Amino acid sequence: MKLPSLDYARPATLNEAIAILAAQGGDAKAIAGGQSLMPMLAFRLAAPKLLVDIGRLPGLNRIDVSEDGVDLGALVTWRMIERDARLAQAHPLLAAAIAHVAHYQVRNRGTVGGSLAHADPAAEMPGIAVTCDALLTVVGLNGMRIVPAAAFFRGGLETVLAPDELIVNVRLPPWRRARRWGFAEFGRRRGDFAMAGVAVYYDLDVQGDIGDAHVGVIGVADRPVRLKDVEGILNGQRPSVDLIRQAADVARGAVDPSDDIHAEGAYRRELVGVLLERVLATAGNIKIPEAAWHL
Ligand SMILES: Cc1cc2nc3c(=O)[nH]c(=O)nc-3n(C[C@H](O)[C@H](O)[C@H](O)COP(=O)(O)OP(=O)(O)OC[C@H]3O[C@@H](n4cnc5c(N)ncnc54)[C@H](O)[C@@H]3O)c2cc1C
Repeated sequence: MKLPSLDYARPATLNEAIAILAAQGGDAKAIAGGQSLMPMLAFRLAAPKLLVDIGRLPGLNRIDVSEDGVDLGALVTWRMIERDARLAQAHPLLAAAIAHVAHYQVRNRGTVGGSLAHADPAAEMPGIAVTCDALLTVVGLNGMRIVPAAAFFRGGLETVLAPDELIVNVRLPPWRRARRWGFAEFGRRRGDFAMAGVAVYYDLDVQGDIGDAHVGVIGVADRPVRLKDVEGILNGQRPSVDLIRQAADVARGAVDPSDDIHAEGAYRRELVGVLLERVLATAGNIKIPEAAWHL
């Protein structure tokens, strides 16, 4: 389908971009990789009068790894994450989850900032941001603010961003080396959005008990969510088959996905249980009888 008629601007600096967005009072939209916005325009799900191309703003395509964590500039693409060998150690959960995003062409252009701002409930990056307590740096006409990922998403395709605000950076807190983790998702084909996905990490204390468990899910609510009840079941316990089964049961009860054209809610709920069993088995290096994974 042809795009609606619109104007186009390509500011050279962040301040210029923000000033242009602010001057349009909600009638302009930033475009980064265009991998979500272009389809939205083509399907008339978005109809801004002006596109503000932020794709070449300087300084926003850096991946920094330091003792403060991993910083991803808003214009970092999936491909850049995939190619950065440091991340396998600095944040293996991020690297594993992002490996599931889309196809080669989309991965070359789609950006971290665009994914967070687009706020698809089944997208991997928002899920990782929420699971890992990421901090988003957002800049607008009134200056800069830091927004915790958990407070950033307001619903499907809805965030707390004001029309003049741009995401410039996302920081993932430091990753402990011995941390246990797992990520799994289920989609109909490789590169498709997940019907459901689960991300988990925890640390083990000297007794071998789980602490600081983080469990996040995508594709089963209007935004990525943490399963705090499941985290409560895991914390203070030693990883075991029984614990994994118990956690999976609690997870099934903790989500209430609605039916849509891709799957019934009950199917997605079951997926969450099965995927959680798988990632906890991976994280704990525990073998679970395959028969438990009846999809
Ligand atoms: C065929 C296909 C398959 C896909 N599969 C997946 C998948 O499996 N998983 C997945 O996560 N994604 C998937 N995507 C989406 C893809 O990852 C997009 O790249 C991403 O969601 C948006 O990034 P973008 O840079 O292209 O954003 P754009 O399309 O340019 O913009 C998206 C939205 O974000 C806003 N925006 C962009 N950058 C900023 C910023 N810095 N600050 C504030 N607002 C901003 C725009 O105004 C717009 O509203 C798929 C896309 C396609 C076309």
